[in-house]
Amino acid sequence: MSITRRTMLAGTAAAGAALTTGLPVLAKAPMSNQQAPGFHRFKIGSFEVTAIHDGTVQRDMPKGFVRNATDAEVSAAFTELGLPGDKLTITFTTMVVNTGDRVILLDTGNAAGGTVGNTAKNLAAAGIQPGDVDVVAISHFHGDHIGGVRGADNALVYPNAEIVVSEVEWGHWMDDAKMNAAPEAARGGFQLARRQFGPVADKVRKVQWEKEIVPGITAVKAAGHTPGHTAFLIASGNQQMMFVGDITNHPGIFARRPEWQAIFDMDPQMAIATRKALLDRAAADKIRLSFYHAPFPATGFVVKDGAGYDFLPALWTSTL
Ligand SMILES: [Zn+2]
Repeated sequence: MSITRRTMLAGTAAAGAALTTGLPVLAKAPMSNQQAPGFHRFKIGSFEVTAIHDGTVQRDMPKGFVRNATDAEVSAAFTELGLPGDKLTITFTTMVVNTGDRVILLDTGNAAGGTVGNTAKNLAAAGIQPGDVDVVAISHFHGDHIGGVRGADNALVYPNAEIVVSEVEWGHWMDDAKMNAAPEAARGGFQLARRQFGPVADKVRKVQWEKEIVPGITAVKAAGHTPGHTAFLIASGNQQMMFVGDITNHPGIFARRPEWQAIFDMDPQMAIATRKALLDRAAADKIRLSFYHAPFPATGFVVKDGAGYDFLPALWTSTL
């Protein structure tokens, strides 16, 4: 064994590491032991879009995760993608659109904690401070999309932003009669919506589908996952991108198999119809998509392949 002069001079910490790993310490740069910021930027016409990594979770695969497939089929679908077959792996990607005169954040990510809730931190790393956000547009009221509306101190994370939601989504979750009629175990979603939006209810802008929420961004009906689940079509020049939220969970699984009914879809038949309609439209019109639960940066195109759709990740570029 040769001990180089550098390892001799590397100090006690590095020498200790060399002893514990058995490897000589030769790297000129230290290991950082932390992840680099998660954001990626691209253009849609004159708009600048930044994908923001909120985080990733892995938990044990729930039994019956897909209502109309066996657990063995579900496990095989995950391993086909190189993911563990016994774990449910979910990534979360928010998007921010700078139209030139406004900054619009599409969904807010999870409440901060553990491996998720990194949207505000990664936005700041991308040069966008919370106070810079003018509009927060929400696809639907599940916790992984509205958890980041408020911080640990319960204050609004984006203090200057107008919150925009579909009037249908709002009408469902903020309806006291519906909450009271729901079984106790199903009330959490209603309570979360009240915690996040209740104190600012009169300031939330409730919008209709197929109408612009700001110039260049249109709310699109994408119901089924939740009653008012909403996609956002971003159009500038001759380019379009649709933020499709949760019309699929991982598109490598659910765009491939659009008939599969994940337990997260509240109205499975409507979710299937929406999934097929929007994927068909995106394939036919070559609309770039951003899926909330695709591998980061969660954006690309779909092409029809038999009964399903293949997701083609967009090219990562280092210049705009
Ligand atoms: Zn989701």
